[in-house]
Formats: sequence, C-alpha cells, structure tokens
Amino acid sequence: VSLVVVGSVALDTVTAPAGSVRDALGGSAVFFATAASLFCPVGVVGVVGDDFPEAGRRLLADRGVDLEGLETVKGGATFRWEGVYHDDLNQRDTISTELGVFETFEPKLPDSYKATQVAFLANIDPKLQLRVLDQLEAPRFVACDTMNLWIDIARDSVCEVLGRVDGVIINDQEAKQLTGLSDTVRAARAVAEMGPRVVAVKKGEHGCLLLADGAWFAGAALPLENVVDPTGAGDTFAGGFMGYLAGADVGDPAAFRRAVAYGTVLASFACEGFSLEGLVPVTREDVEARLAEYARLISLDG
Ligand code: AMP
Repeated sequence: VSLVVVGSVALDTVTAPAGSVRDALGGSAVFFATAASLFCPVGVVGVVGDDFPEAGRRLLADRGVDLEGLETVKGGATFRWEGVYHDDLNQRDTISTELGVFETFEPKLPDSYKATQVAFLANIDPKLQLRVLDQLEAPRFVACDTMNLWIDIARDSVCEVLGRVDGVIINDQEAKQLTGLSDTVRAARAVAEMGPRVVAVKKGEHGCLLLADGAWFAGAALPLENVVDPTGAGDTFAGGFMGYLAGADVGDPAAFRRAVAYGTVLASFACEGFSLEGLVPVTREDVEARLAEYARLISLDG
C-alpha cells in the first residue's frame, strides 16, 4: 500500500432534514479510505466487532482498499455513533457514542504497511496515534486530525503528536480550542508553531485555510445546492488531500494547494448523499471534471 490510515470504522445512525439512516457504514478511516482509494492503494488500520457487515468489508475491498490492518474482535461490538443535524446543517448534536471494541484497541501495523511513506492519523485517541507513529519505518509525509474531546482530556498527547507529524488537518473550532486564540488565521499560525510544516484548517461550507511552509492559500468550498449529509466530509477531505499527496512531490509548495483542491472536491461528493452514498459512485474522471469546475471557481480570469 502507498498510504496508510488509522482511525475509526463505524456504524453511523444519522438524522438530517433530508431523511435518516441506521447503522450505515461510517467512521473516519472509512470515509478517508473511500476517498483516497481513487488515487492510490490504501491500507486501513482499525478494529471492528464480528457484528460488522460483510457488505461493508466488500465495499472497501472492491475499491482496492487493503483490510489486512482491520482487526476483528470475536464477540465484540463495532464502534457506533449517532448524530442529528438541525435545519442549519452546520449544527449537529451527537446523540450517542458507543466505543465498543475501540475501548481496548491497540493499533498494530501489518509488516506490509510499515514501510509506507505517507500516512494519516485520523481522529482517535492521540496515545494510539503515537503508537502508530512509532511503527512507521520510513515516513515522508504524515498528517493527523484530532477533535475537541482529545484536546479537552489529553492535550499533552495531542501536542506530542503535533510535534512529530508533518501536517495537520483540523477544523477551525479545534484550532481555536487548541491554541486559545479566537481567530482562524492566528490559530493556524500558532498550530504551525507547535510543529507541523503544513496546517489545513477546515471551515465547513467556508472552505479551507492552508498554511504550508509559511505560505497561505485560501481554498474556497464548492457552492453546493443539495447537501444531504455532511457526516464524514472532513475525513473525506483528508482522504482526497492525502491521496493526491501520496503521488506528488511533497517538497513542491504547489502540491499542497492542489491537495486542498482535491480534498474540497472529494468532500463535496460526500455531502451529496447519506453515509458513503455520495462518494461510492464517483470515478476519477468525475473528480477531474469537478476539479476543473473548482479551478474556474477560484480563478480571477473567469
Ligand atoms: P465528522 O463528520 O468529520 O465529524 O466525522 C464523522 C465520523 O466520525 C462518523 O462516521 C463517526 O462514526 C466518526 N466519529 C464520531 N465520533 C468519533 C470519535 N469519538 N472517535 C472516532 N470517530 C468518531
């Protein structure tokens, strides 16, 4: 595999104004891998219970996602998450989080993953992210995500991860919480000072602010007129971003601007259906067509 992700593999129950789904395939690693598999072979490090549906495994395997790193715990329950969106889809309440097999998860990279040059530490306990970092033998570009929960209860470990990665992809609320700063620009700069050379701050429908090797890039979001379910959009963004980088020259500053563009395009597809419905039918040609639309959107020349 040329890209490894560690993160949650979940069954999501989601209610939004457009409808609802129960126990649908989700989790940070699943959204990430579904997007990134359009670019390169991806290996997933995660854990499920034996209640995890075979159809979920097949959906990923059919896209060329390697599941050797996906552990199955006999008699265990897969991580479950339930959320409800308001009419304003930027507002979401988490109804429940059932950790299940995640409670005792010890990430273990198969030997065939250890030499990967590009890896993404999706949102999980930062102590587990550190254990994955320890197992990478030749990392060229490793990025991480985190969430408010870990900044609240494990801030030191989050900072330790940030000191060891090359990039971080987080949302604006997390960047502000982490730094204690109330504006996104200063927060992004302060996160970069904690270690990573590349900081991508996601701002939902307002796009992504990138600080890469000291240079700013303001990535607009695509104007979407039919958002159905934004769940996993951030992880899908990361999948497009890292999937593109796995085949790019990470020494070239322009690579990160293009990575933001690919991340934005992938996230836009994810929002157009529940769970993975928006993403699964998408081909690499669809991605390139929407990327061309995006290039027109952000061009000054019309
Ligand atoms: P996002 O919309 O980017 O917040 O991502 C939502 C996805 O993250 C869902 O598929 C959930 O299963 C997963 N998720 C929610 N809470 C957690 C958590 N505490 N740890 C790991 N994954 C989570």
